[in-house]
Amino acid sequence: MIDTHVHLTWRTFDGQVAEVVRRANEAGVRAIIDLGTDVKTSKQCREHAHQFDSVWFGAGIHPNDAGSARAGDLELVMALCTDDRCVAVAEIGLDFYRDHTDPKVQERWFAEQLQLAKDLDKPVVIHDREASARLLEVLDDVGYDGIDGPGGVFHCYAGDEAMTKQVLDRGFHISFTGNITYKKSDRPEIAKLVPLDRLMIETDSPFMAPVPRRGKTNEPGYVGYVAGALAKAHGVSLDKVIFETTKTAVKLFRLPETLLEGLEA
Ligand SMILES: [Zn+2]
Repeated sequence: MIDTHVHLTWRTFDGQVAEVVRRANEAGVRAIIDLGTDVKTSKQCREHAHQFDSVWFGAGIHPNDAGSARAGDLELVMALCTDDRCVAVAEIGLDFYRDHTDPKVQERWFAEQLQLAKDLDKPVVIHDREASARLLEVLDDVGYDGIDGPGGVFHCYAGDEAMTKQVLDRGFHISFTGNITYKKSDRPEIAKLVPLDRLMIETDSPFMAPVPRRGKTNEPGYVGYVAGALAKAHGVSLDKVIFETTKTAVKLFRLPETLLEGLEA
């Protein structure tokens, strides 16, 4: 399995990253993508990616951190993105739920980083919290999609049926996290609308721990619960979901094909 979205730089993991990565590997997680939310954490993610064979990273300015980003940060993100372990411009997007950052400022950073991803030919990992309509407009303004461009994934996916169609039509992938395992979640219904070869799995650690770990600190070793929920939603075997989501992540993030060895189609 590939956990396509984690934040190992979060304070919760201080001094424990090696253990968390080891537990994930033992649970069958072959690759972990550690994502930055500002320049400082993006640099820490780069360190993790050079320290652990199973960790790759993304560098970017998260919408909730856009307000404290400084002039010159875009150039620093660009430099980080040229690292050979960097697989995405991430995490980027829009968040109109929290009022951390003026929407105009978020939109400017989002657009600039989309352009950067185009220039560098790297995919993006998109955070969309109650901002879907505006987010699609910015994507269209920049001319960014997964058909002609490097594409990307909508992470911790929260979109409705109409949004799902828009996202898929633009060639993007969709990643689900632990909330798909929650009892009253409508995510399994939405997941059914997404073709198997457009799906990915993530934990969004340390947040959103899946059942039966709900309420605890999440870690990449728990990503199998998300795969299990997708298998149930699609009525296919767990092996099938693991194969398909791994293949999709390998392709999107241009990870080594060896990560697919031994997996059943
Ligand atoms: Zn995240």
